[in-house]
Amino acid sequence: MRKVRVALGEESYDIVIGYGLEQDLRAFVQGAGFSRQAMLVTDSNVGPLYGENVRAILEAGGLSVTVVTIPAGESSKSLAVAEKLYTRAIELGLDRKSPIFALGGGVVGDLAGFIAATYMRGVPFVQLPTSLLAQVDSSVGGKVAVNHALGKNLIGAFYQPKAVFMDLSMMKTLPKREIYTGLGEIIKYGIIYDAAFFAYLEQHVQDVLSLEQEAAVHMIARSCEIKAAVVSQDEKERGLRRILNFGHTMAHAIEKETGYLRYNHGEAVAIGMVGAADISARLGMIEEADVARVTSLIERLHLPTVAEGCTVDAMYKDIFHDKKTINGKVNWVLMEGIGKVTCRNDVPEDVVRAAMAARI
Ligand code: NAD
Ligand code: ZN
Repeated sequence: MRKVRVALGEESYDIVIGYGLEQDLRAFVQGAGFSRQAMLVTDSNVGPLYGENVRAILEAGGLSVTVVTIPAGESSKSLAVAEKLYTRAIELGLDRKSPIFALGGGVVGDLAGFIAATYMRGVPFVQLPTSLLAQVDSSVGGKVAVNHALGKNLIGAFYQPKAVFMDLSMMKTLPKREIYTGLGEIIKYGIIYDAAFFAYLEQHVQDVLSLEQEAAVHMIARSCEIKAAVVSQDEKERGLRRILNFGHTMAHAIEKETGYLRYNHGEAVAIGMVGAADISARLGMIEEADVARVTSLIERLHLPTVAEGCTVDAMYKDIFHDKKTINGKVNWVLMEGIGKVTCRNDVPEDVVRAAMAARI
């Protein structure tokens, strides 16, 4: 079992990582001072596998838990589904100290967190992330949101959980492609913050791919530490937090151009990271050898490095519509080496276009 402490202003909480966390979760619930009525939000894939077991643990901790199962998939991250959950919460008589638990991937975490942030102006929230992406990314940092028909994550809040528990034994049922998706973000943490962690991933490719226990705990804990360190220095995304966006500028364009179908998020980020490394090299900020290391690790971890079905013109236009673009200037997160990035908004158009052309 490993614990990562997240300190944010006055608030702080633990991320608990391990295999089989019954005792820790029960003890936490017993000592948390929650009201008895609780809601556990899960989805139609994860609920049937783990919902009952988790409900039993929470009830052993003294709660009365109602499991609410939403259809799996991004389309559940909507105001319409949120409204159904509010209705359930009111019907169940949840009060200001009633906890809401999120058991699932990032969709469940973002949606349940949004409900917890807004129902009665905020009730206790606990994350139980079950996908690798949710464990290393969406459950850390306190961003919660639902989508709008006109854009992803447009309606949301910053809202920190009381605790995060990750039982890695639940990942045995996670589809392979979802594992690779999470690995995309894990590689990112090495590139933006920690050269030694990047080297660790290079040296343990087989263990990383198979989620061998020790390697899984290490890479998830280290990823959470890095995200927590960045977020705690910049909770509301004014500066440093932007480095988490490494690879995402091009990724968002790729996701848009392929209709969010051909590549999932981590795959698009993988391609975008090679693109950002390439731009960095073209600007003389890093060596070609660094680009080669990034590309090679991404390939060895079964992630793509080129985007089929995209054109340079369309991608170039898209990057100006990204949420992170301010006053028409694209803020690129670029590499100064492995383990170190910086933001630049002065990248010439021909350099961006050349890097995009190399990725399609
Ligand atoms: P997801 O929640 O859709 O989960 C992926 C798939 O895996 C789903 O079908 C889910 O049912 C299934 N699944 C999850 N855990 C499983 C398990 N243990 N066994 C079997 N199946 C399992 O998607 P995701 O990739 O986890 O998260 C993506 C979402 O996260 C997006 O909505 C994205 O916007 C959001 N996100 C949020 C943040 C943030 O900071 N809040 C950061 C990154 C991503
Ligand atoms: Zn991402």
